[in-house]
Amino acid sequence: MKETVLRGEALYKTYGANEVEVNALQDASFEIHSGEFIVVLGPSGSGKSTLLNLLGGMDHPTKGRLWYRDKELTDYSDTQLSDYRKDVVGFIFQFFNLIPSLTAEENVALAASIVPNPMSPGEVMAMVGLKGRGHHFPSQLSGGEQQRVSIARAIVKNPGLLLCDEPTGALDSKNSVAVVKLLLEVRKRLGCPVVTITHNAGMAQVADRVFHMRDGRIERIEVNTSPVSAEEMVW
Ligand code: ADP
Ligand code: MG
Repeated sequence: MKETVLRGEALYKTYGANEVEVNALQDASFEIHSGEFIVVLGPSGSGKSTLLNLLGGMDHPTKGRLWYRDKELTDYSDTQLSDYRKDVVGFIFQFFNLIPSLTAEENVALAASIVPNPMSPGEVMAMVGLKGRGHHFPSQLSGGEQQRVSIARAIVKNPGLLLCDEPTGALDSKNSVAVVKLLLEVRKRLGCPVVTITHNAGMAQVADRVFHMRDGRIERIEVNTSPVSAEEMVW
């Protein structure tokens, strides 16, 4: 049985007020299950980041309800939401956002140090293919390597879900494929859902389901009956 990890019910997010109101997200309802690889596709401004930020507890919906497992996030206090972001959510961004004055492994160890059940930073560095590179500073690593460090930083927490906002947006195609491969491995290894925003429709080939967004709405949820491996993906 697939467990439901995230459930949204008629979620709305409105920015501004009156004549300058922006409906960034409208009437979004969905379930996301353990081990699922979800790709969120849509033009710029269609509400992808807004949706991801709600899932990650980085923002509050204007209306609607959202659950993580049996916990209703929309009932959470600021402190509970802070713990949710810190302990449960692994977040990966387009521009890596590593701390430049800490080595790769120190970036990962810092994330491990603030959560109750971390994995071993050294083990996670090996898992992302950076064994022996831990002592390098971010500026000494390529973009692809920096993104692997940021993936290590997200997974060392042993997260309950992994959220990625354009994780390949700053990478060439070779590094993009490597990142997708790693995200698929992480999903398999941790069993958590991975939700990834992308501009590259190629990533839909590896997804279990694709959320197509348009004008703040999840216009269509496409089920991929035969997801391919990262190696078979045409980028
Ligand atoms: P996407 O990630 O698909 O490019 P976003 O979710 O970032 O889209 O944005 C959806 C819409 O909401 C856009 O029109 C954007 O300008 C608007 N928006 C996003 N964040 C804010 C904000 N903090 N204040 C005002 N408008 C915002
Ligand atoms: Mg965005």
